[in-house]
Amino acid sequence: MTAGTAPPSPPPSGAPTAGATRQWRGVVAEYADRLPPEVGTGTVVTLREGGTPLIHSQGLSQRTGCDVWLKFEGTNPTGSFKDRGMTTAISAAVTAGARALICASTGNTAASAAAYAAKAGLTCGVLVPRGKVALGKLAQALVHGATVLQIDGGFDAALSMCRSLDESEAVELVNSVNPYRIEGQKTLAFEVCESLGRAPDVHVMPVGNAGNITAVWRGYHEEHAAGRTAGLPVLRGYQAAGAAPIVRDQSVENPCTIATAIRIGNPASWGPAIAAAEESGGSIRAVTDRAILSAYRLAAAQEGVFCEMASAASIAGLLELADAGELTAGETVVCTLTGHGLKDPDWAIAGAATPPVIAADVDTAAQRLGLRDVA
Ligand SMILES: *Cc1c(COP(=O)(O)O)cnc(C)c1O
Repeated sequence: MTAGTAPPSPPPSGAPTAGATRQWRGVVAEYADRLPPEVGTGTVVTLREGGTPLIHSQGLSQRTGCDVWLKFEGTNPTGSFKDRGMTTAISAAVTAGARALICASTGNTAASAAAYAAKAGLTCGVLVPRGKVALGKLAQALVHGATVLQIDGGFDAALSMCRSLDESEAVELVNSVNPYRIEGQKTLAFEVCESLGRAPDVHVMPVGNAGNITAVWRGYHEEHAAGRTAGLPVLRGYQAAGAAPIVRDQSVENPCTIATAIRIGNPASWGPAIAAAEESGGSIRAVTDRAILSAYRLAAAQEGVFCEMASAASIAGLLELADAGELTAGETVVCTLTGHGLKDPDWAIAGAATPPVIAADVDTAAQRLGLRDVA
């Protein structure tokens, strides 16, 4: 810096300088008037989550006869929709004077809580099922400085421990049993309605702990009640066949699926999820791991969207609905792709051949890339 030149004074409270173009502000600022007042009036802890793309799918539209859109939540700051609920839950917690957060997680809640806790200067404790968390999610929780404990048990046991700690200790629970989580996550429905200019006819999404289907239904309901949309979508929720307590009407002791983010045997929002599906005229069903894996590959190879395994349950569900003749031609369908595939690249790599090694030679490369006819 040149001597005598005063440094530019920083803009107050992170506000943009004059002449800056507008950027998405995060779900609390964008939807302050539709969230509980205690979320937006105190400290707002945000990484500018939300504002995610709604991507039209020509391939899936052709295959189903519908107008299919993918709401890709993998572009959120920590790579999943959990950020929508974490900004509201942690903003409310900070405003109420909390110093420490806790959550149980299959991975994404931990990643999100850890990042927002770091931003807010709070401590964050995370209980995860031992050996069942995707490496990328664990990496996120660790690099953001959370204290991670692996539980000898599943997600359900971890959540039950967190509920006890929430009662006995001075700590704020930020799982989706925290009502502010649901409030934040409902904003996905607002964005979908704004992007489409209407509510979709059908909304397909994965179901794990069942907070998100509860939240999305609330969002659509509020849009409708406020007169911003004329209709309400039919909700189609999908569990993994090996972790389908709602479908089987009985909790699952040892849930088992490659879609670890929905590997949950006793969903916290079980009742509200059933109510949401029923009120919408929809359903909660199961898709096999085989169907999930094939949808995961289709999304990446044909749509250019790398989502995680649990997210692909919505595309698997969409294809099942189409095959069963349960979609009406021309309907507008939205599939939530809940998280980013980079969190768990093992499955992508496992399904592909190891790239061959060649000499650093242009002719060889051209031939191996199929750019030249082999004589
Ligand atoms: C949390 C999560 C789900 C399940 O959402 P629920 O609210 O628990 O039903 C699905 N997919 C991904 C990627 C998630 O992180």
